[in-house]
Amino acid sequence: MASNAGDIVKAHCSHCKVDVDAQVVAAVGDEIVTITCRTCGTSQRFRVADEDGGGADRGAGRRVVDVEPRKNKKPRNRARRVVSTTGREIPDVSGPPRPFEGTNWAGGSAATEPNAPPSRTPAVPTFDDASDEARFKRWDAATDRVDQRYARPHRANESYEVGEAILDKAHGMGIVEKVDGDEGTLTVLFKQGYIELPSVPRHLRPQHDPFDDDADEED
Ligand SMILES: [Zn+2]
Repeated sequence: MASNAGDIVKAHCSHCKVDVDAQVVAAVGDEIVTITCRTCGTSQRFRVADEDGGGADRGAGRRVVDVEPRKNKKPRNRARRVVSTTGREIPDVSGPPRPFEGTNWAGGSAATEPNAPPSRTPAVPTFDDASDEARFKRWDAATDRVDQRYARPHRANESYEVGEAILDKAHGMGIVEKVDGDEGTLTVLFKQGYIELPSVPRHLRPQHDPFDDDADEED
């Protein structure tokens, strides 16, 4: 099999002392003459890879080993060192994962690691997660009983009462949990959590439906 300059072949690198991937620099016919080790970059006379039959130079360069796409490189023995941005070396933390660290919100008395960075940003307490779930359950239970047909579409110029089911284009069905009397702001529990929506404060609201023109007989 002919080899051309630029081909990648298996070869024994006299510098690395191991078989390496090498790039053919010069070949004459089928014979590879010079290669460049892809590991150390040394250009040298081609030597057959040891693993390919043992005898060095056996076949005098004729045996070109097709380089398969397999990864044959040994993983580099990287020193397990982690250095923080401040240059401080952090001890290797390989091994079983440690429980979530850095907060003691659960017990309140958990000992802080003596070598923990002093200025660690306090973790977001899982309190939020818990209440998210609680909120969802609350919403689920509240809306479960409500047929969407009976939920009032939300309009900013209407008034609503606590406990009413409303429909919002963006957020879907929600339950009014709070009505701000002065501003009319509704606090509505939607599937994704509490969202405030505008409404008309009850004391500013006409006694009839403002959109029902036929009912406009008062005053
Ligand atoms: Zn080499």
